[in-house]
Amino acid sequence: MECHLPSATEPARANPLVPPARVTNPALQEEPLEIAPGVWWVGVRLAQDNFQCHAYFIANGSEGVLIDPGSPLTIEGTLAKLRRITDLDAIRWIVCHHCDPDICACLPRLSEVLQRPDVQVVTEWRANALIRHYGHRFSSYLVEEHGWCLPLAGDRRLEFQLTPYLHFPGAMVSYDTFSHTLFSSDLFGGFVPDNDVLESEDAAYILENARPFHQHYMPSRELLSAGLARVQSRWPEIERIAPQHGHIVAPAIVDEVFRGLGNMDCGVFCLADADVDLKRLLLIAEARQRLTEALMRQSNPRAMLRAMATILESTGQASDCELAVDLPEDGWTTWTTIDSHPLRRLPNQDWYHICLLGVPAMVLALQGVGSTDPFDPDMERMLREFAESMRPWVDHLLEEQRKAKQLAVLNTAAFCDPLTGLANRRALQELPLPLGYSLIELDLDHFKSINDTCGHDAGDRVLKQIAQVLNASVREQDHTYRLGGEEFLVLLPEADRDTALLVAERIRLSVRQLNLEGDAPGGRITVSLGVITKKATQPCDFSQLMEQVDRALYAAKDSGRDRVCIADDVSLSCG
Ligand code: GH3
Ligand code: MG
Ligand code: MG
Repeated sequence: MECHLPSATEPARANPLVPPARVTNPALQEEPLEIAPGVWWVGVRLAQDNFQCHAYFIANGSEGVLIDPGSPLTIEGTLAKLRRITDLDAIRWIVCHHCDPDICACLPRLSEVLQRPDVQVVTEWRANALIRHYGHRFSSYLVEEHGWCLPLAGDRRLEFQLTPYLHFPGAMVSYDTFSHTLFSSDLFGGFVPDNDVLESEDAAYILENARPFHQHYMPSRELLSAGLARVQSRWPEIERIAPQHGHIVAPAIVDEVFRGLGNMDCGVFCLADADVDLKRLLLIAEARQRLTEALMRQSNPRAMLRAMATILESTGQASDCELAVDLPEDGWTTWTTIDSHPLRRLPNQDWYHICLLGVPAMVLALQGVGSTDPFDPDMERMLREFAESMRPWVDHLLEEQRKAKQLAVLNTAAFCDPLTGLANRRALQELPLPLGYSLIELDLDHFKSINDTCGHDAGDRVLKQIAQVLNASVREQDHTYRLGGEEFLVLLPEADRDTALLVAERIRLSVRQLNLEGDAPGGRITVSLGVITKKATQPCDFSQLMEQVDRALYAAKDSGRDRVCIADDVSLSCG
């Protein structure tokens, strides 16, 4: 940022602007100017000085108000102007918005010139403590002791508002309720490159001249915008702004200039260019602000991680980052800026780790942070503090995890046969089918006799054993189902006819070989199986296939049981 304090010979305007709207008055040097009803500009232009100081006068019968009267450099000219519009004895109040010499250094001179015994200096206690050191004879009217108000004639009041640290701790501005004029003191002040422009309707011109002034005299954008907001919300009907320096803000652009000034970087932002450490701290503060804003906007972890990466990259200390949370059920879940889903792994082990939260642990891993050039400890501290505001976000993740688990349990109950642990018919309906596959449907032979002879519990044990045989007979990618009763199904993705026959035969033999002593008559049971294969190229309806494999199974039953029967396109064949 350029911090350009203009010299006496160099105009403040660094950039050429559109020509300002000029209220040119050839008599500006000589005449007082009525800028609003009963409000007079009585300032004095100093030759070749960009730092012009404005004094104002509110004509108010015998209770006239002189505002920010000036210094020995200007007071004689101001008095001359005042004499043209008023008897000096009409001056009852001298408002000093703060204690700077360009406002108050004329007080000893005014002590001589103003004869009235009851003239009072209107100010705030902090300024007053210093103003008395100018050496003057006036007593003080402290605004905080009078409800921040100076009653004028009729309903007219001059109201006061504290604008702390802009640029004095007790600095204040005032508002004339009759003319709706804001006497803003240093606020809205600016340097003056054009000596013949007093009031302007060109907001860009006013702001460009106010910029170098505020950069140097106001402490920070935060304080400035807060002070301005306070002023504007208290007096929404401000019609004109009469600052102590720079240009009077014309009614048409009051709102625009308020907005523009509220966004102006000033004070420490300017100093930071020269002070490396301060600049670093400001960078950290800015990063924190951006992180907070991102947290308010981003609802999902990946978007937040991406925002974090961008912000950290802009600080110049890291080139990429990963964010990981140790979720109690799932372990480490890590978001990266590349993968679209979080990964089940620790954050990158080769990167620099910052533990942001304790329980559950949250770790930020930073790429590009070397061991010889460690991460800025202030930045690290800021990140740890910031992470506390991510707690609700982490709680949300935990809640999501809990819900997902609950749903998984519910799904398991809905899609799983509780006796055998195999998937059920409903699960089969939900399965996304591969293009080509084989089905083996099987049904126990004379199972009823097991129940009848050995009891229902024995029947249950046999069913569980069959389920084990099925699971042991198929590949990992195959699916096994209990369709109901003593009927089962195996779905073999990409298995051709021969493979399916091989698996079916393997199942048949394994069942035959089961030793079911005590649970089945003779300790043995057999199974009948139907097989069907769907080629990848073959269009087919799943329910039709199920009907066909069912027919194959019953063909196996009809032809003597304990056998495999295959459903071909045209005929059924059993082996
Ligand atoms: P087939 O060779 O013609 O298939 O004769 P089957 O006796 O096996 O067939 P059927 O349909 O006549 O009898 C099936 C029996 O399976 C009847 C039913 O009580 C029994 N069953 C169904 N589900 C269960 C279960 O969960 N546990 C037990 N123990 N028995 C069951
Ligand atoms: Mg049966
Ligand atoms: Mg049956």
